[in-house]
Amino acid sequence: MTPRRVLALFLCLVALAPLVLSEFYVTLLNYIGLSALVALGLVLLTGVGGLTSFGQAAFVGLGAYTSAYLATVFALSPWLTLAAGMVVTAVVALLLGWMTLRLSGHYLPLGTIAWGISLYFLFGNLEFLGGHTGLGGIPVVSLLGFELKDGRDFYFLIWVVLLGAVWLTQNLLDSREGRAIRALKGGVLMAEAMGVDTARSKIVIFLIAALFASVSGWLYVHLQRFVNPTPFGLHIGIEYLFMAVVGGAASVWGAVVGAGVITVLKQWLQDLLPQLFGASGNFEVIVFGVLMVVVLQRAREGLWPMLSQWMPVHSSRRQVPIADFLNKQCSFGGSELILEVRDVTKRFGGLMANNQMSLSVRAGEVMALIGPNGAGKSTMFNCISGVDGPTSGDVFFRGVSIVGLDARRIARRGMSRTFQHVRLLPAMTVIENVAIGAHLRGHRGITASMLHLERAEENSLLAEAARQVERVGLKDFMFEAAGSLALGQQRLLEVARALASNPCLLLLDEPAAGLRYLEKQALAELLRRLRDDGMAILLVEHDMDFVMGLADRVVVMEFGEKIAEGLPEEVQRNPAVLQAYLGGVA
Ligand code: ADP
Ligand code: MG
Repeated sequence: MTPRRVLALFLCLVALAPLVLSEFYVTLLNYIGLSALVALGLVLLTGVGGLTSFGQAAFVGLGAYTSAYLATVFALSPWLTLAAGMVVTAVVALLLGWMTLRLSGHYLPLGTIAWGISLYFLFGNLEFLGGHTGLGGIPVVSLLGFELKDGRDFYFLIWVVLLGAVWLTQNLLDSREGRAIRALKGGVLMAEAMGVDTARSKIVIFLIAALFASVSGWLYVHLQRFVNPTPFGLHIGIEYLFMAVVGGAASVWGAVVGAGVITVLKQWLQDLLPQLFGASGNFEVIVFGVLMVVVLQRAREGLWPMLSQWMPVHSSRRQVPIADFLNKQCSFGGSELILEVRDVTKRFGGLMANNQMSLSVRAGEVMALIGPNGAGKSTMFNCISGVDGPTSGDVFFRGVSIVGLDARRIARRGMSRTFQHVRLLPAMTVIENVAIGAHLRGHRGITASMLHLERAEENSLLAEAARQVERVGLKDFMFEAAGSLALGQQRLLEVARALASNPCLLLLDEPAAGLRYLEKQALAELLRRLRDDGMAILLVEHDMDFVMGLADRVVVMEFGEKIAEGLPEEVQRNPAVLQAYLGGVA
């Protein structure tokens, strides 16, 4: 069975369910659909983007209350109040996102708990929202002249909205913008170096998650036709997160599975446990707590990966699309001075990691920066690529000073780099990892991605990524998970990723470390070809043979200072270098 058929079968089941099931089960499926929509937002936000939120129930409440209030007090059509609810949610989400997303580590979830609680109490304490008693008499939704009065009518609306949201989210994840979002988990440093505006990506997924929650609230309130603050409390926010985690927070279908399992389990436990204990109470909360710990211990990826093991693999995902070539960011010519570092000093407290360092690289030149461990080479790279600004001194890139620009803006000007400690997304395929490098060569935004209107551009980006994967000799691993590669191959992947941006200047931090002899030879050959094409290459390396056979010029550093500069053979004979570096290492 192809994946398409599995999906078709599932859709048939969803469509037929209300025709054969009893009222009780239709209601249950309605609640599963409503929760799955909120959990879907959390898949995007937490599972994919790595930003944990306990406060989603508050956004459900915003959608619910805005619609309830406007529809009862001003007798507006529920479709109008849906739009109003989304606008209110968007404004609040942008405000909260702007405040909380800047928090890092544990502070972010704590922040979401704080506003989750605040909004909950706001709903309960505002007189015009009916306080803790709530609002009643909320009008029914009519669709094409048909009034959705009972649960069975409402079922289709809920599931069409949910499946639509799944489709939009899946499309988004499978796009250039989606790769930028997935890159958040690989660390902001890498994503920004590839030109991704990580702050924007975070706000976008925060906003989408909030809007999904808000729409779920709208559906809920017009299904119930009554609203009070109870379903929007913090413990429900935790339940939504739990659904996403149990289902499998990295996959859109995980949200549906998680919402299904938790809703059914909750229903069942609520019936069973009070009988068992002979007293009434929310005993299911205790079971959920224990279950959460077990899931986090035993199946951190959730249930979906286990289920999807039995699913067939999509074959079109293993083909490189044929597409138009991308435009070039950089064209090479002559021996233009590409990079000039002038008197750069970098202090870390009392430590001078770089002291009055100067160097330059021309187009069509391989410059090697060598020196013993701790000499300050990586620091120099960070000063050049905008990861960390120099304390003093200047860096010119293609004639313009780039000191003070952030990594993303520098990448935009045509500089690309690899990292000494490999930074890639282990679960993502090789070709997709490399495509992150081509981020700046695409332009289509979030909406186009969600609707898959950017397929031509996406195909070009993937075709370009595939070309670079082949160029570095990883063709056989194109569709393997990047994490399954050997370290040396992961370094080559980083070179391919850097090349996918079509840079004028390539910064390579110890690219040959971990490579075998033949792989080193192949890498050297590749770098020679790039140089002959006119690319400027600045290379930090330990392996002397590799450097000496490849570099046009060499700069030697020790204790943050330049101790020698010249042709490889000159530097090799320089007594200071022999003393400091070659002698020291050997
Ligand atoms: P290399 O790449 O040549 O091995 P580095 O540039 O990584 O050397 O480090 C140079 C010196 O700067 C080392 O002594 C290192 O401990 C120090 N250093 C590097 N980064 C930082 C930092 N972020 N904070 C403090 N010290 C640092
Ligand atoms: Mg280093």
